[in-house]
Amino acid sequence: MKELEIPKSHPRYRSLIIREKVVDGFRRGIVVPEGLIAHGRGEAFDYILGEKSWDFAIEAEKATVAWLLTASKPVISVNGNYAALAAREIGELARLTGAIVEVNLFYRTEDRVARIVDFLKQNGVDSVLDADCEKERISGLESPRGIVCRDGIWSADFVLLAMEDGDRTEAIKRMGKIVSAIDLNPFSRTAQTADITIVDEALRATNNMIKMAKTLGKMSKEELENIKKNYDNVEALKASFRVIFSRLNEASRKGLI
Ligand code: ATP
Repeated sequence: MKELEIPKSHPRYRSLIIREKVVDGFRRGIVVPEGLIAHGRGEAFDYILGEKSWDFAIEAEKATVAWLLTASKPVISVNGNYAALAAREIGELARLTGAIVEVNLFYRTEDRVARIVDFLKQNGVDSVLDADCEKERISGLESPRGIVCRDGIWSADFVLLAMEDGDRTEAIKRMGKIVSAIDLNPFSRTAQTADITIVDEALRATNNMIKMAKTLGKMSKEELENIKKNYDNVEALKASFRVIFSRLNEASRKGLI
């Protein structure tokens, strides 16, 4: 990884380090070329949003952690980009919440699943549902996009996914799952379809959820149920659009920001 070549004083150091993680994932055969393009789209939204976790994201992350802690079978669905960005953090979040980690890919090949599983394990994710799991197919998605593990997404009641394609999010919703989606683009079909939309950068969001899991893990079931009940995803989406609008509006008035 070329981490050391980026000077810490660079004003966008963190964003560049994150970009390098995705490029490193591409070189390892974890991220597909389309994943690089998807990352660029996310960067554009993050730039407009000011590269920070806004209140609407914090609320969505909190509701997600409450679901992870209370669901009967919570699953974290991991694709190439999410693994490249946050392998270690996914493992920690899974350990703190008891969630199952499943590698689930839009551009699925068994070789890429195996590479991602290896990468997750190298980064301390103890238990991952892998290419050898007992398979099922999500209806409405042509193979191999629809393959999932029977003991994972297939039988889950709650699924956390990140940077996911809209068709697949819709199909998982049709299976009756509660879905939380990390997606910086609030216009995307995934963002619009999910029950909980986390409009935040995936690594930042996962780190926030790790901190929250440490606190929320000590709460009673009733308190966690209240967090879930009081969360309003339409309000969160509206708030994300308002921030985008006001930042663009302010920039358009001043010319310089
Ligand atoms: P959809 O099919 O949901 O309408 P799409 O065609 O943009 O959207 P993809 O390219 O499959 O879907 O999904 C990638 C999504 O992930 C994009 O919306 C992009 O903004 C978002 N994204 C990319 N990188 C990150 C990141 N690091 N953190 C959070 N979101 C990201």
